[in-house]
Amino acid sequence: MVVVEKLKIYLEEIKKNDKQGNKINSFLQLNPDVLEQAKAIDSKKNKGKLFGKVIGVKANINVEGMNISCASKTLEKYKAPYDATVIKKIKQEEGLILGLTNMDEFASGGSGETSAFGAVKNPKVLGLIPGGSSAGSAASVAAGFCDVALGSDTGGSIRNPASHCGVVGLKPTYSSVSRYGLIDLSMGLDQIGVLARSVGDVALFFSIIQGKDEKDAISQASEKINLKAIEKIPKAITVGVLDFKIQDKRIQKLIDEKVKQVAKTNSWKIKKIKINNIDLAVETYYPLVYVEFFSGTRRFDARRYGQKIEDVAGSEVLRRILGGSEISKAEYRGRYYHLALKAKKLIKEEFEQAFKKVDCIISPTVPKLPHKIGEKISVEDMYEYDALTAPANLAGNCAISIPCGTVDNIPVGMQIMCDKFKEQKLLQIARSFEKIFL
Ligand code: GLN
Repeated sequence: MVVVEKLKIYLEEIKKNDKQGNKINSFLQLNPDVLEQAKAIDSKKNKGKLFGKVIGVKANINVEGMNISCASKTLEKYKAPYDATVIKKIKQEEGLILGLTNMDEFASGGSGETSAFGAVKNPKVLGLIPGGSSAGSAASVAAGFCDVALGSDTGGSIRNPASHCGVVGLKPTYSSVSRYGLIDLSMGLDQIGVLARSVGDVALFFSIIQGKDEKDAISQASEKINLKAIEKIPKAITVGVLDFKIQDKRIQKLIDEKVKQVAKTNSWKIKKIKINNIDLAVETYYPLVYVEFFSGTRRFDARRYGQKIEDVAGSEVLRRILGGSEISKAEYRGRYYHLALKAKKLIKEEFEQAFKKVDCIISPTVPKLPHKIGEKISVEDMYEYDALTAPANLAGNCAISIPCGTVDNIPVGMQIMCDKFKEQKLLQIARSFEKIFL
């Protein structure tokens, strides 16, 4: 009864530390059939590739029969009628779905505070935000409530909370994983990915969920991950270190030291690399998200699902709906959305050029330390959290955040980006760092 035993330990932890009192609040719903499903998995003769893995799923990815609320009153009672493709694949390999994780409402946020069902806490430093929007996914993995969690990343929502909670988070290449069954924030940028406590687990899950899916027209086949090869330290690597000024010098110093240390051990080269238009990333990202989110939310009009979004959503969601509708009106002059698409293309092209010179580009995942839960910060400061993660979404690259140490005892993540569909190389480099950090 391997899986059942393990599940009971996780359930006990959740009972003690997630829900009771003023605790982490990482799960919104536990799978009511989880024990039965664990027993069924244990009794199988042929074990799947995910046998023994216990999984949290962000509450914007459909799991049949469960309440996919997107942490919003809008979908408070919505029950998923089907499994997203990633869930189907995980179930086929005997992964056990433990429950749905809390998140910023409709994935709109970077702190884990905008959930309609209460903020998520950072298990590593309880008074601080865990980062968002896949806040519950990162927190549940960091707190030891499950092995792995799925998240979605539109502008950093996997990497940002992974960084603040001290876990690994992979945003795969745009279109390398099916998004069928993901409730979208921004169709042109969204990507489902994985959070775990090790690069190995992230790689294992990516190898299962990657691939073309006829239900997602933009999904593409990519090189199948070779899990054994990830253990080999790649030779002749040129590490690009992103030339970008961040407010908190201590974070950059930590990253620089680690890069030097790992490059020296492996005889890799280091090269500073500049992406000229990267400072436009936040200004480019938000108009795209506002417009695409506005358009996507028109279906939440209370006729088919739940409640009318404008009647019940929180302020960040309303800001995006209002902003998106205004931008859409101004669009006949091509002032915002089309301009943003142009900037997106520029950033994408710059990255393509950069990856001809270096194998990967490394930076801090997040340019500042997490704030206190409930602390009032401006919208601009909140959006600033995305400055270094949104570029990979705009360019469509793959990127990972791995724990890199602490500043003031607060976890700091290192972001490694690689060119589109270069997950094998990305994971191999990340694993090389992890071996030295551990
Ligand atoms: N913080 C960003 C936003 O609020 C990223 C969200 C995400 O990646 N889902 O849009």
